[in-house]
Amino acid sequence: MERVVVVGAGIGGLAAAIRLQQAGYQVELFEKEPQVGGKMNRITEEGFTFDVGPTIVMMPKLYREVFELAGRNPDDYIPMTPVEPLMDISFSSDERVQLSNNLAEIVSTLEAVGEKDAQGYLEYLALLYKRYLIAKDNFLQRSFRGPGDFYNPKSLLAGIRLHTLGDAYSSVAKHVQDDRLRKSLAFQTFYIGISPYEGPSLYMIIPMIELLYGVWYMPGGMYAFADGMRRLFEERGGQVHTSTPVERIAIENGRATGVVVDGTLHAADAVVCGADFPYAMKHLVSDERARGSYTDKAIDAMKYSCSCFILYLGLDKRYPTEAIHSIRFASDFEKNIADIFEAERFPEDPSFYLYAPSSVDPDLAPEGMQTLYVLVPVPALPAEDEMSDACRWHDEDVAAYRERVLDLVERETAYSDVRDHIVFEKAYTPLDFAERFNAYRGATFGLRPTLFQSNYWRPHNKAKQCEGLYFCGSSVHPGAGVPIVLLSARLAVEELMADDHAS
Ligand SMILES: Cc1cc2nc3c(=O)[nH]c(=O)nc-3n(C[C@H](O)[C@H](O)[C@H](O)COP(=O)(O)OP(=O)(O)OC[C@H]3O[C@@H](n4cnc5c(N)ncnc54)[C@H](O)[C@@H]3O)c2cc1C
Repeated sequence: MERVVVVGAGIGGLAAAIRLQQAGYQVELFEKEPQVGGKMNRITEEGFTFDVGPTIVMMPKLYREVFELAGRNPDDYIPMTPVEPLMDISFSSDERVQLSNNLAEIVSTLEAVGEKDAQGYLEYLALLYKRYLIAKDNFLQRSFRGPGDFYNPKSLLAGIRLHTLGDAYSSVAKHVQDDRLRKSLAFQTFYIGISPYEGPSLYMIIPMIELLYGVWYMPGGMYAFADGMRRLFEERGGQVHTSTPVERIAIENGRATGVVVDGTLHAADAVVCGADFPYAMKHLVSDERARGSYTDKAIDAMKYSCSCFILYLGLDKRYPTEAIHSIRFASDFEKNIADIFEAERFPEDPSFYLYAPSSVDPDLAPEGMQTLYVLVPVPALPAEDEMSDACRWHDEDVAAYRERVLDLVERETAYSDVRDHIVFEKAYTPLDFAERFNAYRGATFGLRPTLFQSNYWRPHNKAKQCEGLYFCGSSVHPGAGVPIVLLSARLAVEELMADDHAS
């Protein structure tokens, strides 16, 4: 193989393109949007700069690896500093906890609640680390092709050892008694769009990695990573075609032969698809045989993660709060989760996450001003043929949800008069994620990692029924979240190279 085309310049597509380039392939990258990064995007307007999607840098080693493998110093592209505090958490207007990024500080916060809870927390961390090592060696860093890769004694035993973990909340609850601490240590499953009460799943370990490896910040925000990858790829001769949607993946005689763009075939020896897997199968792969079991019906029957409603606010005031990341918990958290995942409606009393990086990065806003990003987890959209007018997030719905959320922001967080200081504002709904980035059903974290959509049962990095076609991204193995999508890019490229060397 010589020429490889990559579809989509999200984190998965960019990382795959760099790895392929490093391995000596001639790589071309096609992206439908004017900017690279996919959900890791950026809004720059009226002097304000916002990250669109991801904001929390976990497992920095995996970010750095992309630059290191190309012989570059990651600090020249993505210098990072640890974040302190890790998270400011509010349970009501007068009940707050600050979680530090520093273990010694966390222990003293926990001791203030009780020594037994401090001890339980440390035991929980040790258990988490043990499970993480099992997951890393047996599932996260290896791909699956045939049943023999999964149905073997070693993998099955590892699977059993992981699945004894239960859901995130009850797993924490076995070690920590205080309900506020339980929630503070379990909500991280939201980072991959699943409920803390859902399980068991090895994927619940992933977001909790922040408790082991800490949380980091890159000057310029998270978009610095997407931009750094684009720069690296182009510096080394790679071509990125932005505002260039791929119409379909060309397949002949059971083999991918390139992509069709604006009616023209761009031939290649292999295709790596970083566009969301369910969308790609439905809309980019028209060859029925190549789709195998992923028919339209099967894709619609799969389970999807939640989505997000986000307000990006430019404020003409700098609030005196140090926390970059904060969470506000609903007073009835279980009902909040049920609204999203069972009733599938905008939560009556929503939990939300705030991101305010201006305290460490003043360049993101004009002098004396700041940005505030308010994220509310909400249900994904219905399947395409069940979409009705009621699901279309009309302006009046968005305005009502905005009021509901800003009431709570003012009542229960440090931003007590925020509405008086909004000078710029934009909102993203699940429809924006669906329409801009082709996130199927607007599910911001892709396929939900249920038991039967995980590991061997999650879509593989190599197409089962088509040669020369590989997948990376949130909806394929190993799953969602920036570090894990970076692993999916590594696995997709390893699969491609294994086929190339075997031929
Ligand atoms: C609001 C939000 C908050 C998040 N917070 C965090 C966080 O704090 N930390 C974390 O680690 N993760 C977080 N995540 C998850 C993380 O952002 C994603 O898992 C990751 O960015 C997904 O990358 P991807 O490459 O799989 O997909 P995408 O970013 O969706 O990339 C796919 C790309 O393909 C392009 N594309 C689609 N169709 C076509 C086509 N036909 N032709 C050409 N191009 C096409 C899209 O435009 C897009 O650029 C968050 C996600 C969201 C949405």
